Amino acid sequence: MIRLETPLKNLPRVLPNYYKVLEKLGLFTVQDLLFYFPFRYNDFSQNTVLDQKYLGQVITVEGVVSKIKLVRIFKRRLTIAEVIMQDKNGTPLKAVWFNQPFILNSVKEGSLLRVSGKLVLDKKFFSIINPAWEMASRETTNTGRLVPVYSETKGITSKWIRWQIKIILKNIEKISEVLPDEIRKKFSLPDIQTALTQIHFPDSPEKLLLSQKRFAFENMLLAQIKALQTKSLWEKNNSLAIKFNEKLIKTFVGKLPFKLTNAQRKASFEILKDLEKPRPMNRLLNGDVGSGKTVVAAIAALQAINNGYQVAIMAPTEILAKQHFESFCKLFNDYGFNIALLTNSYKLLCHLERIEGPLNKIRDDIIREIKSGKINLIIGTHALIQKDVKFDNLAFVIIDEQHRFGVAQRAALQQETMSIQDGSQKTIPHLLTMTATPIPRTLAIAFFGSLSLSILDEMPKNRKPIITKIISPVARNSAYEFVRGEIKKGRQVFIVLPLIEESEAMAEVKAAKKEYERLSKEVFPDLKLGLLHGKLKSEEKEKVMADFAQKKIDILVSTPVVEVGIDIPNATLMIIENAERFGLSQLHQFRGRVGRGENQSYCFLFSETDSERIKTLEKNNDGFAIAEKDLALRGPGQFFGTLQSGLPDIAMENLGNIKLIKFAREEARNILQKDPQLKSHPAIQTALQKFEKQVHLE
Ligand code: ADP
Ligand code: MG
Repeated sequence: MIRLETPLKNLPRVLPNYYKVLEKLGLFTVQDLLFYFPFRYNDFSQNTVLDQKYLGQVITVEGVVSKIKLVRIFKRRLTIAEVIMQDKNGTPLKAVWFNQPFILNSVKEGSLLRVSGKLVLDKKFFSIINPAWEMASRETTNTGRLVPVYSETKGITSKWIRWQIKIILKNIEKISEVLPDEIRKKFSLPDIQTALTQIHFPDSPEKLLLSQKRFAFENMLLAQIKALQTKSLWEKNNSLAIKFNEKLIKTFVGKLPFKLTNAQRKASFEILKDLEKPRPMNRLLNGDVGSGKTVVAAIAALQAINNGYQVAIMAPTEILAKQHFESFCKLFNDYGFNIALLTNSYKLLCHLERIEGPLNKIRDDIIREIKSGKINLIIGTHALIQKDVKFDNLAFVIIDEQHRFGVAQRAALQQETMSIQDGSQKTIPHLLTMTATPIPRTLAIAFFGSLSLSILDEMPKNRKPIITKIISPVARNSAYEFVRGEIKKGRQVFIVLPLIEESEAMAEVKAAKKEYERLSKEVFPDLKLGLLHGKLKSEEKEKVMADFAQKKIDILVSTPVVEVGIDIPNATLMIIENAERFGLSQLHQFRGRVGRGENQSYCFLFSETDSERIKTLEKNNDGFAIAEKDLALRGPGQFFGTLQSGLPDIAMENLGNIKLIKFAREEARNILQKDPQLKSHPAIQTALQKFEKQVHLE
């Protein structure tokens, strides 16, 4: 009997040179190999006799070999193995293999052979070139069925893997079921043994699909159980309860120069309610660019500071941290709070009496005043939580995550938040994370199941929708004329240059410099242009951005790697070169850099191909709708970038499947509610351990 834990090298047919390669693929045990799923299938399931009507189709034929021939063409270093066989009706078929002379070691005259491949005519003869083959007496493994294809590596073929898996499936002891029976029955999912057999050697496309679904569901269920466990573990901690003060909030909101959107109102309320509890909040504020996340964060921060606690805000870059600093100084102008900005390049304060002296002295002073509790609100980059900053009574942390919403990074952030020296041994801070791009709800649940969600799906009313146009190469010059027109009106323009394949930073910088030169010399010699790219030092970037903000620059040419997350209300035109190379969500993100002031804004997508995909942006301004479309078109892997998926492929492929995710979430909740320790689900416990290792959820 073979067991799941049996090391592959203990199997009689796995020789040392094989298990070395297997180990390279990360396959050590029988279980690893069994869960090495095919990435596609060859459909050889049409078993038939030879007939004109199958020409051009892929078929499987059985027949008796009547003649074999081996031709060697030495000059071309070519061997041709030729086999003539007769099917049941006596119709002859010529099977030809190039450079596989060894086939004739097994295939002899009189052999009963089964071959699969595309039927063609060769001088009136039915023929198949390089067919898959096996002896007809054998079970269909490589021919005559849906045949699994695995991702191969040097030294191991799909054929070899099929053979091994077939043997394993025959000899393995009963595999314990992970999914509870009621759940399996409820969703008509096959049991694990059947599903494993069917995923490798499917009897039909339907059974295959059901097996894939089963494993996707299983993975999603494990992910959700894991998320809920993480959540309840998080909630076992204590936090400082922040009392809700209606009058305070009403006054603050009343003084804002605008009316809150309903979405902002609802999100603020959800957050304030959470903060009141002595259990730490862990909430994601999911909203589009410009949906007004800052004010929501400010309302919550105000409540915390008013209760006498400290608040920390972290941004992914120095520029954004500085922008937050400026916004919060303005928003809290009437309150006399002490606010500090602490990053590598900036050490700034508002309201606290000015500290004079060299930068490192200022830094020391700020750090001291954070510890003393004098500073109410501290703003910085993520580095803030990794550094040795000690707080007096930090109750609330806000993280503006920008693009960094990877699962692993999130887990790390959460861990770091817990270990902040918040001045108390007994509590951890409440945590609010904000995304800069809308994440479709399903993805948010699938990836961030351990978080509570607040969604800003409504834009402030006063916004004029940005007019978006795809510009073909012939219209380039008139687009440049339009640029001049805007600048004459006193406005400013962004030009974002394309992503370079493989994101070679140096190549990107070089291309950006070249385009910058071209635009400065040939197109807009009379205008002031600035260049921003990823290789600039942060002071240099800051200088360029400051110049742009102060209108010393008319046109800012920039690579996509660079953070353009800064608010320039006077910029009214965003031009994106080679727009088709970007994801829709990313394009939408760039577009969000304009349309921040009173003036009508525009986004031009320069594109040589007439792509349906980017046309979505012409018609649509709703970030959530665009994100859904992006997800549907490019898949979750692309949506999140390669690093961050964290889920097995089979679960990833099903992330568009809203129902599957919802059901998994519900069932996970049911299971944990009845049995929080999973005592009656040992198989789930084991699977979870394995799952955790697999998905590296730190
Ligand atoms: P983001 O969600 O991208 O962080 P911000 O919080 O920076 O967006 O808000 C973008 C701009 O919209 C800011 O200038 C802010 O003052 C303004 N704003 C926020 N909420 C509203 C509202 N309800 N009505 C009008 N303007 C708003
Ligand atoms: Mg923001």
